[in-house]
Amino acid sequence: MQAENVADVITAVEFAKRQNYKIAVRSGGHSWAGNHVRDGGLLLDLSAMNSCAVNKEAMLAIVGPGCKGNDLADRLGKDKLFFPVGHCKGVGVGGYLLQGGYGWHSRTLGPACMSVEGLDIVTADGNLVHASETENADLYWAARGAGPGFFGVVTSFYLRVYERPPVIGFTLQNYPISCLEELFNWAYEVGPFVSRSVELMLIMSRNVLGVHGPGIIVIAPVFANSPSEATDATRFMRDNPLREKATLQLPFVPSGLRLLYRGVQRHYPDGYRYAVDNMWTHARIEDLLPGLKTIADTLPPAPSHVLWMNWMPPAERPDMAYSMEDRIYLSLYGAWKDKADDDKYASWAVSHMEAMQDLASGIQLADENLGERPARFASNENMGKLDLIRADRDPDNRFHSWMGRLK
Ligand SMILES: Cc1cc2nc3c(=O)[nH]c(=O)nc-3n(C[C@H](O)[C@H](O)[C@H](O)COP(=O)(O)OP(=O)(O)OC[C@H]3O[C@@H](n4cnc5c(N)ncnc54)[C@H](O)[C@@H]3O)c2cc1C
Repeated sequence: MQAENVADVITAVEFAKRQNYKIAVRSGGHSWAGNHVRDGGLLLDLSAMNSCAVNKEAMLAIVGPGCKGNDLADRLGKDKLFFPVGHCKGVGVGGYLLQGGYGWHSRTLGPACMSVEGLDIVTADGNLVHASETENADLYWAARGAGPGFFGVVTSFYLRVYERPPVIGFTLQNYPISCLEELFNWAYEVGPFVSRSVELMLIMSRNVLGVHGPGIIVIAPVFANSPSEATDATRFMRDNPLREKATLQLPFVPSGLRLLYRGVQRHYPDGYRYAVDNMWTHARIEDLLPGLKTIADTLPPAPSHVLWMNWMPPAERPDMAYSMEDRIYLSLYGAWKDKADDDKYASWAVSHMEAMQDLASGIQLADENLGERPARFASNENMGKLDLIRADRDPDNRFHSWMGRLK
């Protein structure tokens, strides 16, 4: 069923109750694992509920779940405002905000769910409620991190928005794959000292500009208050002792968000079949390197790639379901065009993450593949609390839970 407004959502939930159908929800449809595609029951499509109202005075945006992150960014940009939207075009805020939301400038602003001040939710019994710190606080707690295991339909998000950082840009260095060991050693060492305004990422792929054959892109997007602040924050890139081995280097480019999007989008083209998996880790680099080398050796053709992100979370976060993160994020994106190649590539990401799981503290729900490899995505305490809230709010299990879930 396709909903255009809250009344449609209530009608759909009541219909599902009468028919004893389970409900799967789709907002932007960008779940890698296709979490919204479930056997039987009802699929509720919210993509048409994509409104976005901005109140600059209150620094608040009220956004429909089908709104795309890049559309939200464009709308906010008109008022020189900002929200930590995802790194790619097309990602719906519905699934993105529920699972945490690792967006532009999230190292400073936190996962995007931290900027959710309230939600309108149609519950399993078909009632529309508002959830916030003071109203239906159990739902508010759960909706910030439960991701594809959330047990209600969010029809609006109330988002705290921010002044747009005056300087948004990046600096970049591309290396041949032969530098893998030295580069990851360097990234591991400098990581803890990189300013929160910088998202240091290493992207391994078989198609890297300026490199003949497989290579590694080292990119440092930065969100700063002034050009000099951006220059200071990215000094570690200029000081990289491996720099002379780079086959392509870009000094600081004041790109704005649009050009950043365009760069990222190269790695996630439409028309491909994708299978992904990921891990959070604080393992020693010497323990991670053997796995990284095997991943490099087996890397399927581009646009398949590997992402290493320097996350380094702060010690404290607000109390919410979101509770799994670590110093380093490693994610594998297998991509291929032909269905006939499924056997060749579909298990690449999962098999390597399985092989390295002793080094992982858990996974991100953003790039989950729980149906193929159950893994830990929240603290044990929070998983227990989520189960209790679900039992209370959705006693008939009207909404699907996480695929595979944590064993
Ligand atoms: C190309 C690409 C790039 C990405 N980049 C990023 C990134 O930079 N950062 C990041 O954090 N993530 C990123 N992701 C992951 C993405 O945020 C998640 O897959 C997210 O779930 C997508 O949200 P969606 O609404 O588009 O997906 P959907 O497939 O529509 O939703 C996923 C699941 O979320 C739940 N859900 C969605 N909307 C609602 C709702 N309104 N009410 C209740 N439950 C709901 C449902 O269980 C649904 O099955 C990326 C994904 C892709 C494909």
